[in-house]
Amino acid sequence: MITDTYDVPPGEPVYECPYCGRPFPEERLLALHRGIDHPDRIDAEEQAAFESAYEAEADPLQRYRIAAVGVLVVLYFGLLMAFALLS
Ligand SMILES: [Zn+2]
Repeated sequence: MITDTYDVPPGEPVYECPYCGRPFPEERLLALHRGIDHPDRIDAEEQAAFESAYEAEADPLQRYRIAAVGVLVVLYFGLLMAFALLS
């Protein structure tokens, strides 16, 4: 039973999942959804689209992880210095 409801802006392109009906704004996101949520139902072409979209996500995700660690390190040492200097 599908209990989720989606607000799709009128006039925008919609890529709807053929298995569960969930809408996506980009074909790439639909390919990722099919590969992650319906891995046993997709065919070889959809599997290839999923792998391509998955690999395209890898580099930006790695940059995000490095940036997130950098922010945490700066925050940690910033608070450490603030505590050392102000206490
Ligand atoms: Zn789906």
